[in-house]
Amino acid sequence: MEKIFDTHAHYFDRKYGEIGSADTFLSGEDFWNAVCGVVNVGTRYENSLKAIEQAKKHENMYVAVGIHPSDAQNDCKLSIDEEIERIRSLVSDEKLRKENKIVAIGEIGFDYYWKPVNKELQYEYFERQMMLAEEFDLPVIIHDREAHGDTFDMIKRFPKVKGVLHSCSMSAEMVREMVKLGWYISFSGVLTYKNAANVKEACLATPLDRLLIETDAPYLSPVPHRGKLNNSVYMQSTAAEAAELHKLSFDEMARKTMENAKAFFKI
Ligand SMILES: [Zn+2]
Repeated sequence: MEKIFDTHAHYFDRKYGEIGSADTFLSGEDFWNAVCGVVNVGTRYENSLKAIEQAKKHENMYVAVGIHPSDAQNDCKLSIDEEIERIRSLVSDEKLRKENKIVAIGEIGFDYYWKPVNKELQYEYFERQMMLAEEFDLPVIIHDREAHGDTFDMIKRFPKVKGVLHSCSMSAEMVREMVKLGWYISFSGVLTYKNAANVKEACLATPLDRLLIETDAPYLSPVPHRGKLNNSVYMQSTAAEAAELHKLSFDEMARKTMENAKAFFKI
């Protein structure tokens, strides 16, 4: 069985702490026999540092650093200038960036699901981090929850910045537009849910050379692991579902999405 590349996980998440840390998964030979790569994605400065620390212990783990819109609203205690400056300090020096295995800025974007929503604040954080991505020529990982139109508008304002739409919930039609702009589309365990016909359609609308898969671990466990803490090995069911949709074998899908991930993150 081909190994799979998980383009989006949060192995520092405190949910893992409850069961004695993610290292239960990450230290096992079984894990790396199934998984050829993981991008450990920060959601604010503090846990971006944790993501880096963790990635240094695992050869095939990489890092994205950035401030998630919900964290921007709820957890960032400094001024926007100071918060952005701290993210900049992680990406501005190429040598340090390589040492820290940073391959992208993320996750950033809009979240209009969790109320109350501070749209202006979210906009400012998103925009400032898109500017960082442009300045340092880094790809971005985008979180878009119930904010498709505004996300699309922001992306169009930065034609030089390329990115991935994480745990895609856009329509097939919007996916085609994103692909035209040169973007990648990533699908999580939601793809395996029975009631997710629109997500399956969006996956089918994604050309094979732009398709990525992810866990969003510890969240969004695929069928048949729903309700459990997610980890990258479970992503085999997501890969199997994507393979079936695109009429490929599991191994072909695993190989293709791995190649795409390495090309996108320049690994
Ligand atoms: Zn995430």
